[in-house]
Amino acid sequence: KAAGRNRAVVFHEHMNELLQLRHTVEAELREALRRDDQLSVAFQPLFDANGKVIGAEALARWTHPKYGPISPGQFIPVAESSGLIEDLGDAVLRRSMEMGGRWPERTIAVNISPAQLRNPKFQSRIFELLALTGMRPCDLELEITEGILLQDETVTTETLRTFRAAGIKIALDDFGTGYSSLNYLKRYAVDRIKIDRSFISQLGEDQTSSAIVQAMVTLAHAMGIEVTAEGVETETQLGVLRDMGCNTIQGYLLSAPVSPEKAAELFAEGHAR
Ligand code: C2E
Ligand code: CA
Ligand code: CA
Ligand code: CA
Repeated sequence: KAAGRNRAVVFHEHMNELLQLRHTVEAELREALRRDDQLSVAFQPLFDANGKVIGAEALARWTHPKYGPISPGQFIPVAESSGLIEDLGDAVLRRSMEMGGRWPERTIAVNISPAQLRNPKFQSRIFELLALTGMRPCDLELEITEGILLQDETVTTETLRTFRAAGIKIALDDFGTGYSSLNYLKRYAVDRIKIDRSFISQLGEDQTSSAIVQAMVTLAHAMGIEVTAEGVETETQLGVLRDMGCNTIQGYLLSAPVSPEKAAELFAEGHAR
């Protein structure tokens, strides 16, 4: 009984630590957003099957003056649960679309959180930023997850329809990790699926994964949807994906996320190797 109580005490302390940590991260993030000098955007180049750079995905970065780099895996969930994601997402959008304005014909993909898409002002903000940056709508790709589609159905459908009518591309991120993926593909017209890294990492090692990825590519193509493979780390994976007719490759093998300056250099050069 005593041991049980001790465990409970330890558990409680642990919970407290977690809650405090979360509270700290939130406060620090709020400060970072206010000061605007700790947050930046990295760009991970996207390649076609021949290794030509076709664009980049924008990824939020946070370097704290005392704690150093904090990973998005840690601060994005806090930003989402605290509502700070709206300001953070807007800052990422603005910087990404400035990049897009400077580099016509390069796709700039931006991750969009449910709270952003749900905001009634989001539509007009996108069009305002397009006008402000001179970015072409067809170069902008918004990455959303199935989770978004599960909520607020009418608002979401309406917003996505407006964006697509304007030529903005919609990509379904982390494809294959949610529930009724195939249903969503049918119901919501999307331009692209991004096959989650968990499927790609098994490619060439286990037959089931290859069969699943091949099925995803075949199905998407039959519906006129393009396919990006994320987390491509080996030549074997690249070879298999190329043979399957995968449209776009993203991963450490060809390039990790890089600074905006480095991304611009790659855009100018055009090739990975
Ligand atoms: P994501 O959208 O799935 O982004 C891809 C993540 O995989 C990035 O992690 C990227 O650095 C990493 N990655 C790319 N290639 C490879 C590879 O070959 N191997 C491995 N192991 N990893 C690879 P990152 O930058 O840490 O971002 C994590 C997640 O945080 C993102 O996953 C996205 O969901 C979220 N995120 C990042 N920036 C933003 C943002 O501006 N807004 C929102 N809403 N979410 C963001
Ligand atoms: Ca993404
Ligand atoms: Ca993803
Ligand atoms: Ca992922």
